Amino acid sequence: MAVSRYHGSCHCGAVSFDVETDLDKTATCNCSRCQRLGIVLAFAAREVFTLNSGEGNLTEYLFNKKTIEHQFCKTCGIESFAYSSSPEGVPMVAINVNCLEGVNPRALTSHAFDGASV
Ligand SMILES: [Zn+2]
Repeated sequence: MAVSRYHGSCHCGAVSFDVETDLDKTATCNCSRCQRLGIVLAFAAREVFTLNSGEGNLTEYLFNKKTIEHQFCKTCGIESFAYSSSPEGVPMVAINVNCLEGVNPRALTSHAFDGASV
């Protein structure tokens, strides 16, 4: 599959973005938040992520170590992505694969990250 370009959005469409990411490298996570969301994550450098609309419609949620800036739509409540950094300090985005157009997240083989133990 390798790196491809995808379009993503929240439920109401206020927030939309384009991103280049590799869906062979997705992850699920069992931390208290990801488990509640049922999120499937894909990762990309911030420089290949373009927020097309919705900048002013985003609300941020921080928890635990507060290093991941969860962004969700004020109108529909869907978190379509989060801002974070790699361990080396490179600005990253974590994408909610469930919000990508034309992608079936349940058909992907995702790495199970044990976020509950972090
Ligand atoms: Zn929305």
